[in-house]
Amino acid sequence: TFDIEELFKNLYNSFLPRAREKGLELSADLSPNLPQLRGDQVRLSQVINNLIHNAIKFTDSGFVKFSVKELERTNDGIIKLEFAVSDTGIGISEDQQSNVFEIFTQVRSLVKRQDGGTGLGLAISRELVRLFGGELRLKSKLGDGSVFSFQIALPYSVTVEDPAKSEKVPTPALNKGSKVLV
Ligand code: ATP
Ligand code: MG
Repeated sequence: TFDIEELFKNLYNSFLPRAREKGLELSADLSPNLPQLRGDQVRLSQVINNLIHNAIKFTDSGFVKFSVKELERTNDGIIKLEFAVSDTGIGISEDQQSNVFEIFTQVRSLVKRQDGGTGLGLAISRELVRLFGGELRLKSKLGDGSVFSFQIALPYSVTVEDPAKSEKVPTPALNKGSKVLV
């Protein structure tokens, strides 16, 4: 099992320096009381990592937000979650929106890239999300920003509430937008 809050914290901390460098507000948002999840934490993390990496790369002002929202919990131990990464970056025009998921496809843009990349991130991410039984979706408007999201169902494990753990110590030095990461 793995702790999604822990995973989000690690992602947040690993991207914070780059976001700060670019003057972007980075924030993470989680539904409250998410259970311990079962599944491939490494692959899930890779997908979100790719999406945040892109979001920061293609955004020069504003924010990058990533979130996980609980949609539904069934009593046979399955939780349905929606993950999303949104940015206020350069956006992707409607006619390019299906292309960006193809391998080696990069949209030509006037915005100078900090790092070139190879055009594989989204193709890999889409396949990984499929392996989780979901579909990676994109909503974007050229010049306005993008939202990449997917819904997946994962088994969760019910843990006994540990009273010592419920009194959580706030994490210091998080960005102001990251209210949920405490
Ligand atoms: P790699 O991920 O292999 O390092 P890459 O980031 O260029 O390279 P993808 O992640 O597959 O490749 O993205 C493909 C293309 O889609 C990008 O080159 C860019 O043109 C566009 N794109 C992806 N994410 C965003 C985003 N958040 N905002 C604007 N354009 C994006
Ligand atoms: Mg990429």
